[in-house]
Amino acid sequence: MKNQILVLNCGSSSVKADLFLMENGDPHEKNIDWQRLAKFRAERISKNGSKLSFSITGKDKQVIEQEFKTHEEAIEKITNLLDENLLFNPETRFAIGHRVVHGGEKINNPVKIDDQSQKIIEDCIEFAPLHNPANLKGISFCKNKYGVDQVGVFDTAFHSTIPAEAYSYGIPQQLVQKYQIRRYGFHGTSHEYVAQVVAHNLDMDFHSFSAITLHLGNGASVCAIKDGKSIETSMGYTPLEGLMMGTRCGDLDPAIVFLLQEKEGLSTDEIDLLLNKQSGLKGICGSNDMRDILQRCENNDKLAILARDAFVHRIRRYLGAYVAEIPNCNAIIFTGGIGENSAKIRELVCKDLSHLGINLDLDKNNTRPLGADFQISQKSSSVKIFAQPTDEELMIAQKTIEVLLNK
Ligand code: ADP
Repeated sequence: MKNQILVLNCGSSSVKADLFLMENGDPHEKNIDWQRLAKFRAERISKNGSKLSFSITGKDKQVIEQEFKTHEEAIEKITNLLDENLLFNPETRFAIGHRVVHGGEKINNPVKIDDQSQKIIEDCIEFAPLHNPANLKGISFCKNKYGVDQVGVFDTAFHSTIPAEAYSYGIPQQLVQKYQIRRYGFHGTSHEYVAQVVAHNLDMDFHSFSAITLHLGNGASVCAIKDGKSIETSMGYTPLEGLMMGTRCGDLDPAIVFLLQEKEGLSTDEIDLLLNKQSGLKGICGSNDMRDILQRCENNDKLAILARDAFVHRIRRYLGAYVAEIPNCNAIIFTGGIGENSAKIRELVCKDLSHLGINLDLDKNNTRPLGADFQISQKSSSVKIFAQPTDEELMIAQKTIEVLLNK
């Protein structure tokens, strides 16, 4: 029975792969139940200390320390392990779903991979130079090895509904058109996934569901969702804009870039590195690990407190702006490593917001089991608050089926 979907997420230096079984057996049936059969995580590709950790249903989790010089080497190892375990074989493989970071202005939905869509992904390399090439490597490898249908699910697609007044920058139109300079937004699959799960749990139709989703991981972004559609998000032309992140600066006065060039003599590449990899939480206090930062805050470490508070301040600024855009907000949803797991950050973000109808239940917030989905608002809160684990890979599997069966 062809009932397995492989999801591949090739990052700039990582490969994630998840194998799903469609429980009802026949993919043409409605109401598929999904079971995850295997999960692979390869890290530090083309760097020192690369490794692959994986778990396969019914077996213990394993870690293999192996040098992966390229994405292809990591994918080959993963697919060999699938073969050895008799998974995703010719009798069971149905399709492959790929996370693709950038689809530019041309792609608004998940698409079947063919020459035309592959060309668009190639054309968008200039917008996502670290990610789209990695995504293409995964697509080519799977095309050669498996020859089944492949679907691309794009980080930018969910935000294609953002209106022009929200995606436009105040710069000359001639440059906008020449270089397609606009806000695109990212993390779309995660924002959409957590919002859909919460709408479902609240027994609401997604098309009349409005929420503010906070994806707070190493990369972080906020999204305003009105009637099931993204109408605004904090990341922009690149993932550098918006919230303060683990190592990215987020919103910054562009004049600071001139200063770095003129006074520090930094090149474009050096500024790129500084703002993407050495800024944000790390720039302020030397660490981009929120667990470490919160621990240091307990010991009154001033720079850690500044990093934490600046991170929270920026989130609250966006939250206020987005509440203005969606006055009938049903829910605020925290996700990502920090959003799912840090009760302290959720508490600080929601502090004294009862005038906006946002009332966190401190007991529920503190006692929520790690990794569980949970409503953490007071009964009186008109905006419900949730901590909801994200699952981008499951969402990609679901969208892959939708595209192929045209559901
Ligand atoms: P990525 O964007 O790389 O996928 P994650 O979503 O895994 O990142 O989030 C990583 C962040 O989550 C790190 O800052 C980490 O410290 C933080 N984090 C994970 N668990 C906790 C926790 N229990 N409390 C606070 N922060 C946490």
